[in-house]
This record gives sequence, C-alpha cells and structure tokens, in this order.
Amino acid sequence: MPALKIDGQAIAASIQAEVAAVVAERVQAGRRQPGLAAVLVGDNPASEVYVRNKRKACETAGLASWLHRLPATASQQDLLDLIGTLNGDPLVSGILVQLPLPKQMDEGAVIRAVSPLKDVDCFHPENVGLLAAGHPRFLPCTPLGVHQMLVRSGISIAGKQIVVIGRSNIVGKPLALILMQKPTKAFPEAGDATVTVVHRGTRDLPSICRQADILVAAVGVPRFVTAEMVKPGAAVIDVGINSVDGKLVGDVDEASVAAVAGWLSPVPKGVGPMTIAMLLHNTLRATMIS
Ligand code: NAD
Repeated sequence: MPALKIDGQAIAASIQAEVAAVVAERVQAGRRQPGLAAVLVGDNPASEVYVRNKRKACETAGLASWLHRLPATASQQDLLDLIGTLNGDPLVSGILVQLPLPKQMDEGAVIRAVSPLKDVDCFHPENVGLLAAGHPRFLPCTPLGVHQMLVRSGISIAGKQIVVIGRSNIVGKPLALILMQKPTKAFPEAGDATVTVVHRGTRDLPSICRQADILVAAVGVPRFVTAEMVKPGAAVIDVGINSVDGKLVGDVDEASVAAVAGWLSPVPKGVGPMTIAMLLHNTLRATMIS
C-alpha cells in the first residue's frame, strides 16, 4: 500500500487559523497585536521569496508585519543598529533576520544581538541553552513544524526509534533535542523518543536509518533517502528544499520511498508551510511572554 501523505499545507493552515483566532481575541480585548519585524539584507532571490511568504502569512493571520531592507553593502554595524532599534520597539514582538547574510557580516554576532525575548527563530544561544536544558522559551520553527506534523497526523513519538539525518543548528540538532527529551510541565512537546542523529561522518548510515520508526531527512541532498534506507511502514519526514532543473525536490526519493513507508511528507507542501505556521505561533508566544 502506498504511504499516506502527511499534508503539511493543510496542517499549517489549521495552525494559522488557531493563531488567527487567538490574535483576533486579543485585539478585540484591546491587548497588544503581535507583530513580526523581518530584516532582509541584500537581494538573495530565495530569501526574498521566504520573507514574502512569511509576511503574507502574518497578514492573513492578523499579525502586524514590517520589512526592513538593508543593501548587500551594508556594514555589520548598520545591521546591529537596526536590530537595536527593533529590540527597543514595544510594537515589535518578534524579530526575524533572514539568513544567509552577506559575507562581511558575522552571523553569530547578529544572532546574539537579537533580544532573546524576541528571538522567534530560537537561534540565540540563550534560547538554544534553555531548549537543551529542558526549559525552552521558544522552539525553533522547522523542528517544531516537524513535531507538529507527527503529532497532528496521529503518529506517536514516545518510545519510538527516530533517526534524524543532519546535525545542523537550524534543523537536525534542535529537532533531536525536542524529540529525545523528557516531557514536563515546562516542556510538554518533548518527545520521549530514542533519537539517533546521523551525518556526513556516520558509517553505514543506511543500516541505521533502516531501524527508524520515524525517519527525518534534513540533509540538503536531492533524493538522498531511497527505499533501501526505510523500514517498511515507517513515517518519513522530508525537510529538504533543493532545486533540480528548476524543480523543487526534497531529500527523499518520493517515488521509491512511498512504496515502503507508512507515511510520507511531500515536497513542496510539506515541512515548508509548517515552518511558516510555527513562526506565527512563536510570534504570538513572544507577545504573551514579554
Ligand atoms: P546544513 O547543510 O546546515 O546541514 C546538512 C546536514 O546534513 C549536515 O549535518 C551534514 O552532516 C548532513 N549531510 C550532508 N550531506 C550528507 C551526506 N552525504 N551523508 C550524510 N549526511 C550528510 O542544512 P540544513 O540547514 O540543516 O538544511 C537541510 C535541508 O533542509 C536543506 O535542503 C534546506 O534547504 C532544508 N531546510 C528546509 C526548511 C523548511 O522550512 N522546509 C528549513 C530549513 C532547512
């Protein structure tokens, strides 16, 4: 039987509707409207699209959104000054600095300049530390999106063998932290699963992947995961966004894996829209905690 599709677009739409309902209620009660300030440096076409989609989603859900543009030639200090202004602006609940930044800028220093209370991407070391310690302030958007896809598809996480391919700070590492930790009042999303992270340095990666009840691919290599790496009936989540001959493809070879897996998230309309939905969720959360 072919794998069931995990419809990221539909799940994201329901999360956005939930956020929109809370925002409308807040605004009606005269409370502060959540607002996201996006910062775009330079003219990377992919970043333009990402920021446009994020702002559109904010507007649809009733969040305020602002776009601040800096030229590719801007100095690091220009960007730090802008972030300082946004940190101090009470109307701005969340700040998103779209990565990558031009070469002359130190990404780490920029991430550290964003107020941890407005760090809706959950990239600031303080927020990464809180997540690692089991008391998260925010959960990063893409990993939280993967978590929500599983939960809202009725795929249980606790006790499962999960393999995450990729150890990046944006996806693989924080996702592993979410899925493996013990659920508590401070961290109800924690997965309580057994998580293995595999990466470029892993020996015999396919045989480790074949053990997984849930396999998450965040590799950045088109069609990296093939049917031989998948345990029959497993849930496979494809985080990858790759362009091949102008076509968007994921890290999973959909055609072969769909015949083996129990569930499969497509690309496009899988994790991508979930990332945006969780950004809205985090912006609302930022308004509530500050
Ligand atoms: P990254 O390049 O920072 O990390 C990739 C990871 O994959 C690394 O840890 C590396 O060790 C591992 N890897 C790469 N090649 C490998 C190989 N041949 N064998 C084993 N491991 C290998 O990438 P990232 O930021 O984590 O993103 C991963 C993918 O997810 C990309 O396609 C990216 O575009 C996509 N992405 C999607 C979203 C979304 O919203 N859908 C968000 C972030 C990233």
